[in-house]
Formats: sequence, structure tokens, C-alpha cells
Amino acid sequence: MTVERKPFWARCGACGHCWVAAYTPMPALTFARVVGKARCPMCGGRAFVAKQDDGALREGQGAEA
Ligand SMILES: [Zn+2]
Repeated sequence: MTVERKPFWARCGACGHCWVAAYTPMPALTFARVVGKARCPMCGGRAFVAKQDDGALREGQGAEA
């Protein structure tokens, strides 16, 4: 049995960069630990949840708002 992994997108609050912070499904506690510690790979800024729909990013990956 193969579980389909879906990316969970994070967005940097400082520079707007979007990246995959985790893949789901993942145990809830592990997910909280991974995403809670996520930092922007571009500038080290705090991660926020990006607009996304079923694993597809709904906003630009660049630095625009
Ligand atoms: Zn950043």
C-alpha cells in the first residue's frame, strides 16, 4: 500500500519565500515539531502557513506579497 505524500507549504513572513516545510501525512506530533521549527531557507525568517490547496501552492514562490 502506497500513501500519497502531499507537500505542506510554508511562507516566510519576512521575505515571502515559499517552500515545502513537510510532507503529509505525518504523525501530528512530528508534524508540529517539524513545522514549528521551520525557518526560511532564504533568510532564516519565521515560517507561516502559505495559501495552498491539496498540496498545490496557491501563491508565488518569489518575494512578492
Ligand atoms: Zn525569508
